[in-house]
Amino acid sequence: MAILLDGKALAKKIRIKVKSKVSKMPSPPGLAVVIVGDDPASRFYVDNKKKDCVKCGIVSHEFALPENVCEDKLMTLIHELNHRHDIHGILVQTPLPHGLNTQKIIQAISSNKDVDAFHMLNAGRVLYGEYGFVPCTPEGVITMLDHYNIDIKGKHAVVVGASNIVGKPMAMMLLHHHATVTVCHIHTVDLASFTRMADILVCAVGKINLITADMVKPGAVVIDVGINPKSDGTICGDVDFEAVSQVASYISPVPGGVGPMTRAILMQNTANAADMLN
Ligand code: NAP
Repeated sequence: MAILLDGKALAKKIRIKVKSKVSKMPSPPGLAVVIVGDDPASRFYVDNKKKDCVKCGIVSHEFALPENVCEDKLMTLIHELNHRHDIHGILVQTPLPHGLNTQKIIQAISSNKDVDAFHMLNAGRVLYGEYGFVPCTPEGVITMLDHYNIDIKGKHAVVVGASNIVGKPMAMMLLHHHATVTVCHIHTVDLASFTRMADILVCAVGKINLITADMVKPGAVVIDVGINPKSDGTICGDVDFEAVSQVASYISPVPGGVGPMTRAILMQNTANAADMLN
């Protein structure tokens, strides 16, 4: 039976450290959270981030805009936030409604306040291993592996999913930790033949039960990044948790795994931003 990678408990430890760091600052860091429209999942994520801010002594400033907001107005808000001295981090909750150019808006955020590390400059820094802000989800995964003393060096890490915000930076960061990395995506032929080779398997797709027990090498470490809503209002990951737990050595649950870690790293990035900007 696999050992559970308890992201919830580890995230709490990180928040305590952030709170301690923040308490020594002359003024609290400010995080601007921009939400457009009334997507329930986005609202849920934003509310959780705001709760984390309170726990860490960070001031969250919410900017809720209607679904039909014009791009110019959103861009003007971003420019204002870039110049506000009480705002150290800016995040725009995605996905944005159709008609808004997500890339244009994200790239308008000052790279010094880009606590999600979605800006191309910060994404590029990840390629060079010179992190400004660390991308929250991949850093959450690396921190989790480190906390449980799971060696990355020399291991074969297989990342399923190749998005700009999770899969690609995840692969790059595992590479910097000296893993041999394979990246799989929608066009990968015979996904199972790759996942079965993984010592460390990270799945970040958004598809229920994509990873079944027969796709996992016995003793592998399995990290489930996926978040999928279920009909009963709860969420689950991409991995068939019950069956894969019988095969893996370590496994991260959903909820309570990578999600809380992602938010804790966001808090850490915001405190670091305040440190840099003050
Ligand atoms: P995304 O932008 O939709 O990317 C999904 C990736 O998976 C893409 O590279 C896609 O390939 C690939 N893919 C789709 N179907 C596949 C299949 N059947 N086999 C292999 N690869 C497949 O999503 P994302 O933003 O990276 O997020 C991925 C998942 O993680 C979602 O469930 C999201 O909610 C979750 N997430 C969780 C956290 C957290 O904190 N736990 C944070 C961020 C995201 P193509 O691009 O070629 O289609």
